[in-house]
Amino acid sequence: MIYPIVKFGDPVLEKPAEPVRTFDAELRKLLDDMFESMYEAHGVGLAAPQIGVSKRIVVIDVTFKEDPAARLVLINPEIIKVEGKLTQQEGCLSIPEFRENVTRPKRVTVRAQNATGEWFERTGEDLLARAFMHETDHLHGKLYISHISALKRDLMKRKIRKLQKAGEWK
Ligand SMILES: [Zn+2]
Repeated sequence: MIYPIVKFGDPVLEKPAEPVRTFDAELRKLLDDMFESMYEAHGVGLAAPQIGVSKRIVVIDVTFKEDPAARLVLINPEIIKVEGKLTQQEGCLSIPEFRENVTRPKRVTVRAQNATGEWFERTGEDLLARAFMHETDHLHGKLYISHISALKRDLMKRKIRKLQKAGEWK
C-alpha cells in the first residue's frame, strides 16, 4: 500500500516517535509499504512519521532501486559516532520543492534493530551518512530546516504559508 507523504505543518512531523517493541508480520507489512511509498515519492529515505505513523522506523535506499542489497531498515536507531563535516544540498519529501545547504557529519555510525529485532551497526559516508542523520532527526521530531539559518528558515516558512493559503500544500 502506498501512503501519501505527510507535509510540513502536520504536528506528527514535529513530535518524538515511539519506540518499536513488537517485531511481527504487521511491522514487516509496514516496512514494505514504507519502501513502496518512498519509491513512489522518488525518495532515498523515509521515516515513519512522514506517513503519519509516529514510530521509530526508517527505510533508506541511497541507490534508489539500483542495488537491492542497499535497502536498509533502521528500527529504534541511535547515532553512535560521527566524524568530519560535509556541506551539501538537502531536501525532504515532507517539504517538497525546497532544498538548502546543510552541514552534516561526513561519516556516521548508526546502531539499530532490523525487521526481526536483531541489533546491528552500520557506518555510512556522504549521502548515506546524511540519510542516517536526516532520518533519525525525523524520529526526534526534527526537520532539516532546523539546521539552516533562521533567516532562510523564516523565508521558507513564509513561502510555505502562501502555498498553504492557495491550497497548494496538502
Ligand atoms: Zn525528511
